[in-house]
Amino acid sequence: MAKKEATPMMVQYQKIKDQYPDAFLFYRLGDFYELFNEDAIKGSQLLELTLTNRSRNAAHPVPMCGVPHKAAQNYIDILVDQGYKVAICEQMEDPRLTKGMVKREVIQLVTPGTQVDVGSQNAKTNNYLTAVVYEADQRAFGFAYADLSTGELKVAKLTDQAELVNELVSLQTKETVVDGQLPATYQEVIKKLGILISHQSALPVNASVSYLSQDVDNELLKRVVKLLLDYIQTTQKRSLQHLKRAVVYEPSDFLELDHNSQYNLELTRNIRTGKKSGTLLWLLDQTKTAMGGRKLKQWIERPLVNRSKILSRHDAVEVLLDHYYERSQLQDELIKVYDLERLAGRIAFGSVNGRDLIQLKTSLQQVPKVKYILEQIADDSFEKMLKNLVPLDDIVDEIQRSIVDQPPISVTDGGVIKDGFNKQLDQYRDASNNGQKWLTELEAKERRVTGINNLKVGFNHVFGYYIEVTKVNLDKVPDNRYQRKQTLANAERFSTPELKEKEALILEAQEQSKTLEYKLFVQIRDQIKKSIKRIQALADAIATIDVLQSFASVSEEYRFVRPKLAKDHQVDVVEGRHPVVEKVLGHQQYVPNDVKMGNDTSILLITGPNMSGKSTYMRQMALSVIMNQMGCFIPAKKAQLPIFDKIFTRIGAADDLISGQSTFMVEMKEANDAIENATPNSLILFDEIGRGTATYDGMALAQAIIEYVHNNIGAKTLFSTHYHELTSLDNSLKHLQNVHVGATESNGELVFLHKIQPGPADKSYGIHVAKLAGLPNGVLSRAAHILSGLEKKANQMAEKPTSTSEQPVTKHHRPNQEEQISLFPLEQVDDNQAEVVSQLRNLDLMSKTPMQIMNQVYKWQQKI
Ligand code: ADP
Repeated sequence: MAKKEATPMMVQYQKIKDQYPDAFLFYRLGDFYELFNEDAIKGSQLLELTLTNRSRNAAHPVPMCGVPHKAAQNYIDILVDQGYKVAICEQMEDPRLTKGMVKREVIQLVTPGTQVDVGSQNAKTNNYLTAVVYEADQRAFGFAYADLSTGELKVAKLTDQAELVNELVSLQTKETVVDGQLPATYQEVIKKLGILISHQSALPVNASVSYLSQDVDNELLKRVVKLLLDYIQTTQKRSLQHLKRAVVYEPSDFLELDHNSQYNLELTRNIRTGKKSGTLLWLLDQTKTAMGGRKLKQWIERPLVNRSKILSRHDAVEVLLDHYYERSQLQDELIKVYDLERLAGRIAFGSVNGRDLIQLKTSLQQVPKVKYILEQIADDSFEKMLKNLVPLDDIVDEIQRSIVDQPPISVTDGGVIKDGFNKQLDQYRDASNNGQKWLTELEAKERRVTGINNLKVGFNHVFGYYIEVTKVNLDKVPDNRYQRKQTLANAERFSTPELKEKEALILEAQEQSKTLEYKLFVQIRDQIKKSIKRIQALADAIATIDVLQSFASVSEEYRFVRPKLAKDHQVDVVEGRHPVVEKVLGHQQYVPNDVKMGNDTSILLITGPNMSGKSTYMRQMALSVIMNQMGCFIPAKKAQLPIFDKIFTRIGAADDLISGQSTFMVEMKEANDAIENATPNSLILFDEIGRGTATYDGMALAQAIIEYVHNNIGAKTLFSTHYHELTSLDNSLKHLQNVHVGATESNGELVFLHKIQPGPADKSYGIHVAKLAGLPNGVLSRAAHILSGLEKKANQMAEKPTSTSEQPVTKHHRPNQEEQISLFPLEQVDDNQAEVVSQLRNLDLMSKTPMQIMNQVYKWQQKI
């Protein structure tokens, strides 16, 4: 747009737009928000709006599109959900009272991390805005996060990039605030996670100090909290009274679980669908409130490591489990509690309406009931919660006195405040009511006078009050008194001097009554605002009770038991289950398995065919550990678990959110991560490590990793492998035990038992399958013979990478040149046979399904 042609309005627009180059500017124009220029072109596509032009006849038309202001929230949400920012620019003066340009200002910048008007489908998730600063001398990060809708504010010092990535990913933040000092490499890392980076320069002063609790005593932490609050202040420009004081946390206060593990264990997000269904969260969520739902998610993502805290959650779950009747009463009350945390946020923002206050009242009215139920149970484990369950009777009374039971959505159109609450308001209402009565009388009188029986008095917003007469009766209208106002298809509308005079009085009374109602409403809201901290404390207590009752309910429904917390390193899970797989398969179908690892067992080496249940077994262990340390009971008949400090996993599809590296590279990095950071108190799960590379390479690495973990770390490790050769490691590694998942034959069919059994898997498994498939005995015995030859050869080669190691693989698997057999004497071999031999040689038995092996053997039969 050429500047010199610009109208005054476009000049004003451009000036504001220049301050928000990276946001869509929603420019208020009457009842619409308009977008111009590039915003309009892009916005019309994203929002499916019609693109038009302002000043169509001008030489340089301005592209434009608009949305009605009443429906704006939807459009804003669509843009922000897609990662854009929206600057909302309002008229700051009443256009009717202003000469010339109306003053306009951006009143709020909505961004992905500051979006609070999230729909009900997001009620059980937090929306975290994060901030990062870097301190080069300490080589440490200051990290802070806040949820604007609930007021949660936390801060931590992080010591390396991996820790930073973990926090960012597990909080599922959509936006991170940085200052000018964050090195570009870290900005790149954040961007690659798909997180929007927002730059914020420090504001000269800010009220951040009042948001710091006493334990924020470190400059790095203060700096990052200030950065976060500066950004919030810059974008929100409104009251943030509900933000809680920043609480310092240490990642080591919680069970350490890197983001890949969280992802692969499907704690809160289904790998295939990205949704909640099919996850641990989905299984455990019987919370009745949105706050409880969010707290449950937080607990899953941050299990505890502190013994007494875990025990106190277990205690509470046990008590609730035993008190079935009280628990169901509790659920009945909790279900009536609305989202107090987010209501508190909206009260602070000044965006509550009458219905919200009724929700607040209803919620607060449940508190004494919840309290009473817990007092009936009378157990020490609820002591702390009871202390926080302070009924806010004053607020309940205030709302009860002032707000009607079913208020309208709007707070400016009246009908919100109860009769009798305010004298002046009652008077206005009387005046307006009298007016209504007068109108009814007028209608009767005019009917009498004119003889028009269907004459009506009515009202509309454009023409005000009128007398309506149908076309057929027009000749009876008295010309002298009736003045024509509006013509309809089959009626005319009139006014009279008498009606006009009364109309002014009635409308004024209504107007004053609405204005006064709004003023009263704001007063009530501000009064409640003073209690925000109390509401938040209450919300927290309710959320905790809700999660604990949910634990008790799922424990009952799915037969979870209270685990004993071992003081040593003994793992003893009797008949453990994978709760999600069990729920999907049905309790009858699921085969429970023990996990027994005494103080002197650190590694379980798990062998068994594909699809037999190795990976399920390992995940079962990880989920039980996590559930235990969240304070929940676990799926087993009886269990004892130590408290783990960290869980490392290499399971499931290898994925790397950041660098898109090859599967094998990721595998090795994760192995390395475990080796570097695991302690004797950690849990390591390695599923088929080494699979991503050539057989001997992979096997050699797998063996070396096992040896290292065994000799140098001693962490509890579950290691599944299809390298059968590794099972002989139990000869040399005394803390390693072989287990396998069995398969059996039943009525001529191969059946997976899904049962973990001691010892290594049967190696002639593939031939077993071929036998079941009915291959002739000749072929089978030949195959068995070939197999043993291959194995000897394989052992000989497998020896090579470890030949410098002081530990021989095994005694009985040592290479033996004489024993090496020639499969077919060279001169007798035709091309087909050679091909079969080579395929057979390369066939990886353990990685094939029985059906695949059958098909393969069938093909070979056709060839020889
Ligand atoms: P693997 O890791 O050995 O290839 P999985 O652990 O992926 O095998 O298990 C394959 C399938 O077997 C699972 O999807 C599940 O349906 C079934 N399964 C696994 N463990 C059990 C069990 N304990 N009881 C019943 N079915 C199971």
